[in-house]
Amino acid sequence: RRSSPAQTEFYQAAEEVLECLRPLFERSPHYLDHGIIERIVEPERQIMFRVCWTDDAGKVKVNKGYRVQFNSALGPYKGGLRFHPSVTSGTIKFLGFEQIFKNALTGLPIGGGKGGSDFDPKGRSDGEIMRFCQAFMSELHRHIGPTTDVPAGDIGVGAREIGFLYGQYKRLTGRYEGVLTGKSLNWGGSLGRKEATGYGAVYFAENMLEARGETLAGKTCLVSGAGNVALYTIEKLHELGAIPVSCSDSRGTLHDPRGVDLALLKELKEVKRVSLEAYRETHPEARYLPASDYPADGHAVWRLEGDVAFPCATQNELTEADAETLLGNGVTCISEGANMPSTAAAVDRFLAARVAYGPGKAANAGGVATSQLEMAQNSSMQQWPLEKVDEKLKAIMANIHRQCAETAAEFGDPTNLVLGANIAGFRKVADAMIEQGVV
Ligand code: NDP
Repeated sequence: RRSSPAQTEFYQAAEEVLECLRPLFERSPHYLDHGIIERIVEPERQIMFRVCWTDDAGKVKVNKGYRVQFNSALGPYKGGLRFHPSVTSGTIKFLGFEQIFKNALTGLPIGGGKGGSDFDPKGRSDGEIMRFCQAFMSELHRHIGPTTDVPAGDIGVGAREIGFLYGQYKRLTGRYEGVLTGKSLNWGGSLGRKEATGYGAVYFAENMLEARGETLAGKTCLVSGAGNVALYTIEKLHELGAIPVSCSDSRGTLHDPRGVDLALLKELKEVKRVSLEAYRETHPEARYLPASDYPADGHAVWRLEGDVAFPCATQNELTEADAETLLGNGVTCISEGANMPSTAAAVDRFLAARVAYGPGKAANAGGVATSQLEMAQNSSMQQWPLEKVDEKLKAIMANIHRQCAETAAEFGDPTNLVLGANIAGFRKVADAMIEQGVV
C-alpha cells in the first residue's frame, strides 16, 4: 500500500524485502496469519519535532527533527542519526526499516530505529554545530534511554556531534549512561567503533571472496564516499594488501591508481574538512573528477577499472548503468558500506551476473554490532581492549555471511545473499513478534 509520494526510498526498501519473502510465506504461511507484513512495515512510533537554534550572526534558524522507533521485538531501538539537507521523514523511515533486519542479522539484542534532521552541517562553525545539537537533544532526550532507544552517528553525525548531543542529554537528565554510541574514547566510547562499519564491510567482502576461493590481497578496489565508512574501508583494504584507488564526496571523485594516501585523506576529511580536490596539491598525479563532469546516467567512481567495489557514500549512488559498467570491467565482488547504495535495477544486474554481492543490511552491520558492544561495555562499566572488539567484529561478520549464505541455499538460490539476508533477518524478528503476542 503506497500512501505517500514522499516515501519513495521507504517503498524501495520495503518492496525489496517483501519480494524476497515470497518463498518464505509459501513455506510458512503462519507469518501471514499473524499479520506480520502489515505490522512490520508500520513503525511502532514516529516522532517529528521542531529544532530552533541561532547561527553565529544571532539569526534564528529552524530545522525538522525526526526519530523513528520502528521495531523493538529484539531489543531497544538502535540506529543512527543523519544530519543532511536531503533528509525527509521518508529517508528516516527507509533507514529505520533496513535497520530492523540488519540488527537482527547481528544476532545481538537490538531493535530497529533511526533519526536525524534536514540540518546541513557543511560550513557551520563548531559553535553553530553545538547549538544545533543541543536544540536537537532538548526534544530527543524525552524519547531515548539506555534500555529504550540508543542512537548513534550516520551521515553528518560523527564524534563531535555525538559529544555535543551527549553533553546536552546529561545536562537535561542528570544521568551519565550509555544513551548514545560512537562516544569519544575518553568518556565511554568503545575502541574499534569508529572503524567498525568500514572494517566490517571489508571483512564481509573477504568472507564472500573466500567462499569463491579468492582473497582481497592484490585486488584493485573502488571505494565511494570519503566519510567515516569510506575512510576505514580504505584503511582495512591497505592493511590486507588490497589497493583502494578511489574515494568521492558530494563535490567530486578522486582517482589515485597507486593507492589512496590514507594519512592525507584523513587530514583533509577528519581535520580540515575540505574538498577532495585539495589532495592534488601534494599528489598532482592523482585525478580529480568534479561532479559536474559525471556521466548523466551514473557516478564517475563506478566507471573506473577495478576488481572489487565498496559503495560507502549514500543511497542510490550506484545506478543500473554503473552496475553494467562495473560488470563489463570485470568487477566480481561488491560489498556495500552504505545503506541501499545500489538502485533496485543495479541489484538485479548483480544478482543476474551471479557476482559476489553483499547488500548493505548484511555487509555494513559491523557498525551497529560494535555499537551494541559499546552498550555492553557501558552497562558493565568496562572498557574492552581493541583486539577483543575486533575479534568479535570479525566473528559477527563471518556469522552474518554464513547465515545469509545458508538461508539463500535453503531457499534454492545459494549465491543470492539479498534473499538470504532478508529471509534470515525477517524470520528472527517475526518469530519474536509472534511470541510476544499482538502488540
Ligand atoms: P559521513 O557523513 O561520515 O560520510 C558520508 C560521505 O558520503 C561523505 O564523503 C559525503 O560527502 C558523501 N555523501 C553524502 N551524501 C552524498 C550525496 N548525496 N552525494 C554524494 N556524496 C554524498 O557518513 P558515513 O560514512 O557515516 O555514512 C556513509 C553511509 O554509510 C551512509 O549510507 C550511512 O547510512 C551508512 N552507514 C554508516 C554507518 C556508520 O557507522 N557511520 C553504519 C552503517 C551504515 P560530503 O562530505 O561532501 O557530503
